[in-house]
Amino acid sequence: MTISLQARRGAATDAAKTALAWSHTARFLTTATKLDQLPATELPEIAFVGRSNAGKSTAINRLAQQKRLAFASRTPGRTQNINLFEVGPKDAPNALFADLPGYGYAAVERAAKLRWQEVMADYLVLRRGLHGVVLMIDSRLGFTPLDLRLLALLAPRLANGEVRLLALLTKSDKLNRSETQAAVRAAQDVLGDVSTDNADIGVTAFSALSRLGLGDVAQALHSWTHQA
Ligand code: GDP
Repeated sequence: MTISLQARRGAATDAAKTALAWSHTARFLTTATKLDQLPATELPEIAFVGRSNAGKSTAINRLAQQKRLAFASRTPGRTQNINLFEVGPKDAPNALFADLPGYGYAAVERAAKLRWQEVMADYLVLRRGLHGVVLMIDSRLGFTPLDLRLLALLAPRLANGEVRLLALLTKSDKLNRSETQAAVRAAQDVLGDVSTDNADIGVTAFSALSRLGLGDVAQALHSWTHQA
């Protein structure tokens, strides 16, 4: 397991600047409610997943440097679509970002929860171009049972190195330094359980507000999708 990028603020290095310039090109492509409605594409895809309210939309919008590319849903738990964004040159996109429905919102009725599980399981297990997953974990809450279920679904593809994982400990501006370190260590413990020699799994403190970890995240996604 490769773990723990040393989180830096903003674009601290040339590599981070290049990666952010790339992630800023993200633009809406299409939306779907089921896996079989998504376009079959050869492009490497990176999925953004997490509990509702974990900070997923804000993180995507920060990476894309756009205010409203990903919509923070007005009614949490109601956005059940998979939204795809294209990244790279307009005439030659080289990656896709997939914004998956947030989960875990208590007030969602049972049928919607079951449907979410189905969409999520189908996507994580079957989506062909899936290269990497960015998992949003609220740094003050840590991993919840649904996050662990998602990890278990993904574990076989992580174990053989087919899919990479980066856990973002979001809203880390709300924690002090030692709390942040404790949150990173706790996440490492959880992720250690699904890690193997071939797995590429990382965790980083992140804040869309202070831009902590932003350049590092962009760099990770850029390298995932620009490997030979
Ligand atoms: P989503 O449901 O996962 O898409 O979550 P949102 O991106 O809509 O964020 C949920 C709430 O957390 C909103 O009120 C955001 O303003 C807030 N939030 C998101 N990112 C940060 C952050 O980095 N720091 C702080 N302090 N608040 C954040």
